Parts: sequence; structure tokens; C-alpha cells
Amino acid sequence: MENIRAKKSLGQNFLKSRKALEAMVAAGGVSAGDTVLEIGPGQGALTEKLLETGADVIAIEKDDRLIAVLEEKFAEAMRDGALRLVHADVLEEDIAALGLKNHGYKLIANIPYYITGQIFRKFLSGNIQPTKLVMMVQKEIADRIVARDGKESLLSLSVKAYGTPKKIMKVEKENFSPQPKVDSAILLVDDISKDFFDDLDEKRFFGILKAGFAHKRKILAANLKEMAEKRGGKNLSVIFSALPLAAKARAEELSLDDWKKLAVVL
Ligand code: SAM
Repeated sequence: MENIRAKKSLGQNFLKSRKALEAMVAAGGVSAGDTVLEIGPGQGALTEKLLETGADVIAIEKDDRLIAVLEEKFAEAMRDGALRLVHADVLEEDIAALGLKNHGYKLIANIPYYITGQIFRKFLSGNIQPTKLVMMVQKEIADRIVARDGKESLLSLSVKAYGTPKKIMKVEKENFSPQPKVDSAILLVDDISKDFFDDLDEKRFFGILKAGFAHKRKILAANLKEMAEKRGGKNLSVIFSALPLAAKARAEELSLDDWKKLAVVL
């Protein structure tokens, strides 16, 4: 493996910390009989820990050089059927074609940070959701996702609409090779479902959320003015006082439930 150069374009920063690897497996509560989808197995550090639990692992890796390394390292697990290696780009892969069922697997991944948002979208708002998602993310992103009490964002609410996020631990950049520029954190999104959207249209909800956060400097009512006008000239001050919401409330001050109430009446 030493003679394979890490590809920057594929975000290859390999995790060296045993503590962090074990924390990812523990955060997912991975045990024998589980099916785990691992994205970006790299040199197999996390794959090895996952296999030790007795779980069945499907690992998707884009780099063909690493596929060769993994095939050699895990020949036995592949023969036993405990590990299935898929050489593909996860963003283009059809999850159903892998045989995964909605809520029938856990997603564990140490992926390049530039695809964090796309992974969230694909696996949280898609129709084949995992039950839990454990992902290494940039530390600031983890902090933004778990933020509450007046510090919500489009990102935090988009995750909370589908599950319960929890920051498991900070992982300093020194724990990766090659060393990235930023610190990381292990993020768990637990209890993933679409229950929040049982009586609420998903598209409509995100439409309102995006409009509400469109202009940072404006108060929420100003951001929603155009949308309210388009929807039959709804009176925002009447709606706000009925909910109730402060007339000058800012988008980041509303909880997920406030947004739901707003989406229902708007
Ligand atoms: N899991 C390993 C670890 O913990 O050391 C490797 C982590 S490294 C940050 C990211 C891995 O994701 C690399 O192996 C890279 O080749 C792979 N990767 C990057 N983009 C990918 C994509 N779109 N689909 C699948 N794998 C990808």
C-alpha cells in the first residue's frame, strides 16, 4: 500500500486513529447480522473494524488502485460473502441495484468532504434510507448540523427533518494521512425516517425553508413576502401572530416544528 500515492482529487486522507475508527463502529451500534454500506473504504481500515463485528459489508470505492488492494486484503471475507466490493462512484450508483432495502442497512463512511452534501441528499431524502448514518465530516459542518437554539441553518434543519444528529467526537487532522488542512468530527444521524413528512409535502417544505433563508440580512417575514404573495396574498403578520412567531423573527431562530407549522399554513 505504501507505494500507492493518495489522490487529492478523490479526497484520500486515510484515518490512522484506532480510537476514531472504533468510535465510528460503536456510533453505528454495528453488530453481527447488520448490513453496512461503507462508502470509500480506501485501504480498508474501517472495513476491517466493521467486519470484526460480524456485520455484512458492502463497500463502494471509486479508485481502481484501491479496489486491487482491498481484493487482496479481504480475499477471505469476500469469499465468505461477508464483504462485497463495488467499484463505482457512489453518487452515480443505484442503491436499489445493490439489493439494499429501505431501513435495511446502516451507512458508515469516511468520505471526501466535498461530497458530504450530496451524500446527505442521496441517503436522507432518497427512498432507500439507512436506519443510521455515521460519517466523518469537517468539524465545522458537524457543529453547524447539531446547532440549535437560535442557530439553526438550512443545513441543520435539512438533516433534522430526517433524523437526530449527534456529534460523537472531534478528530484532529493529525489523525489522517496525508494530513488535511481542517479538523474533522464523527457525526451520527440516528432514527432516520420520513415520518416528519407524513402530513407535509417534502418539496413544499424545502421550498419554504430555502425562501426563508435566502437573504441572511433580512428578517424571515421579508424573505417570505414574495412566496406569501404568490400563494394568494397570504397575510404574514396574521400568520406569524397566530403561530405564534415574533414579527421580527429571523430564520435561524425557528425550530424544526416552527417551520412545519409555517409550511402547513403558508
Ligand atoms: N475509509 C478510508 C479511511 O477511513 O481511511 C478512506 C477514507 S478517504 C477520506 C475517502 C475514500 O473515498 C477514498 O478511498 C476515495 O478513493 C473514496 N472516494 C472518493 N470519492 C468517491 C466516490 N464518489 N465514490 C466512492 N468512493 C469515493
